[in-house]
Amino acid sequence: MERETFSPEETFALGRELGEEAQPGEIFCLDGDLGTGKTVFTQGFAAGLGIAEPVNSPTFTIVQVYEEGRLPLYHFDVYRIGEPEEMDEIGYEEYFFGRGVCLIEWASLIGELIPEGARRVRIEKDTEKGFDYRRITVQ
Ligand code: ADP
Ligand code: MG
Repeated sequence: MERETFSPEETFALGRELGEEAQPGEIFCLDGDLGTGKTVFTQGFAAGLGIAEPVNSPTFTIVQVYEEGRLPLYHFDVYRIGEPEEMDEIGYEEYFFGRGVCLIEWASLIGELIPEGARRVRIEKDTEKGFDYRRITVQ
């Protein structure tokens, strides 16, 4: 599926739609340059799961856990990860193979750890189409 959005609100709304439909054990890999909207998408997704508390990028903790929604949400941001072993240290397998939903910002940086069957969300800008334009591909 490919969607175009023209504001952060529209990207939030797409995230919310997918959050409403999310199933236990699903993993969403989010890729796209800095500032494209991975966190905005995640905030919508969290809202779709019924999470009311604020969601921000967990850059310094790698993973942030939200338990209050319809399913647990494990929000990863692996941008600052040095080597995949750091994922072992946080016990990533419990999250990846648990009954919650994982959203992983910068997932391609840990590509070798991503299970087959994970869903892909790629967010791209196109400056010719405007500052707030994003093309979002969901697989
Ligand atoms: P990332 O997590 O990918 O680094 P963020 O979600 O933190 O990016 O930030 C995206 C920024 O881009 C926000 O400041 C947001 O307001 C802005 N923005 C502008 N247009 C859009 C859009 N169509 N979708 C998402 N964010 C947008
Ligand atoms: Mg982010």
